[in-house]
Amino acid sequence: MGYFRDSIEQMTGYVPGFQPKAADVIKLNTNENPYPPSPRVMEVIRKLHPERLRRYPEPLGDTFRKAAAEVLEVKPENIICANGGDDLLAICTRAFCDGRRPMAYAQPTYSLYPVLAQIQGCETIELVRRDNWLSDLAKVNAPLTIICNPNAPTTDFIDIEELDKLAGALEGVLLIDEAYVDFARDNAIRLIRNRDNVIVLRSMSKGYSLAGLRFGYGVAQPALIEGLMKVKDSYNVDAVAIAAATAAIRDQAFFWSNVEAIKSERQRLTESLRLLGFEVPDSQTNFVLARCVKGSAKELHEALAQRNIYVRYFKLPDLDDKLRITVGTPEQNKSLVMALQEILSREGTKR
Ligand SMILES: *Cc1c(COP(=O)(O)O)cnc(C)c1O
Repeated sequence: MGYFRDSIEQMTGYVPGFQPKAADVIKLNTNENPYPPSPRVMEVIRKLHPERLRRYPEPLGDTFRKAAAEVLEVKPENIICANGGDDLLAICTRAFCDGRRPMAYAQPTYSLYPVLAQIQGCETIELVRRDNWLSDLAKVNAPLTIICNPNAPTTDFIDIEELDKLAGALEGVLLIDEAYVDFARDNAIRLIRNRDNVIVLRSMSKGYSLAGLRFGYGVAQPALIEGLMKVKDSYNVDAVAIAAATAAIRDQAFFWSNVEAIKSERQRLTESLRLLGFEVPDSQTNFVLARCVKGSAKELHEALAQRNIYVRYFKLPDLDDKLRITVGTPEQNKSLVMALQEILSREGTKR
C-alpha cells in the first residue's frame, strides 16, 4: 500500500496556466488583469506597520468584511473571506461534500471543481451545458451544485432569474462562482436576500488586479457563513492581504475605470478576431474563446508561443478547436492580432 489515500494516488492535480519567467512576453493565458492594482493598494502595503506582521491577523478578516459589505450593500455577517476564490471553493467542498454527498456541475467549466471533489473523496455528477442543463441540475438535486457565471471558459452568462429558479428547486446548496462577474452585465448578490442556500463566490484576482495577493470572498446568509467559518483555516487570510484587499475594494472609482477599459478592449479584440475568421461569441468575462476555423488551435497556440505570446489551449472535447485569450492592453492585443494575421497568411498552415 502506498502512502497516499486511494483518491489522491489516482488523481492528477490541477494544472495551472504556464507562468513564463521571461519579462518580455505577452501573457494572455491565465486571465490576469493587464493593468496594475489601485495605487491605494501599494500605499497601504508600503505603510504597513511591522506590528501587523508580528501579530496574528484578524481571524475573520473583519476590516475587509466591513468594507465589502458597504460596497455590496449587505451586512458584514453575510461575508466570509478566503485566500483566493479557490480557497472558498475548497472550503465549500469540505463543508458540503463527502462520500454520500456528491457535487454537481455542467461541463465545460472551471477545471478545479473535479479536482477538489477528488481530494475530498466525493462523487461528481457532470452534466453537459446543452439544452435543458439548468433544469437537469435541478432534477439531480445534489447537496452541492456549482455554476460558474459568467462561465469559464465559454464566456456566456446565465440570467440571474434562472439561477433564482434553480436555487428554489434545490434542497442543497447552490454555489455561484462569480470570479468574472466584474466584467458581466449583472450579478447574483441580490439572491441571498431570499435564498438561504445560495453562496456567491467573488475573487479579487481578475477585476481588482490582485491575483498575486490571493484574496476572495463568499456572500451568503449568516447561517451558511457561520457554518463555513467552522471549516476554514483559522487564519486563512493574512494581514497584508486584508489591508491590501480592503484598500482595493474601497477604491471603486479606480476599479470601475479599469473594468470599463477592459470591456471596451474586449469588444475591439472580439471584432479583430472575427475579421481574421475566428468564431468568437460575445464575452461577459475578461477573456474571449475563439474558435479557429482556418487553422488548428493547437498549431496556432504553438506558433504564438514561439513569438512569446501565450494564450490558453485545452486538449479537451469541445475545446480543442478553440483558443482562450485573455483581454490584454491595447498594445498586447494588437501584437496578438498581428501575429495571428501573419501566422494564418503563411503558406502551409493546415488544419
Ligand atoms: C480565477 C477563478 C477563481 C478564483 O481565483 P482566485 O485567484 O483563487 O481568487 C474561481 N473560479 C474561476 C472560474 C476562476 O477563473
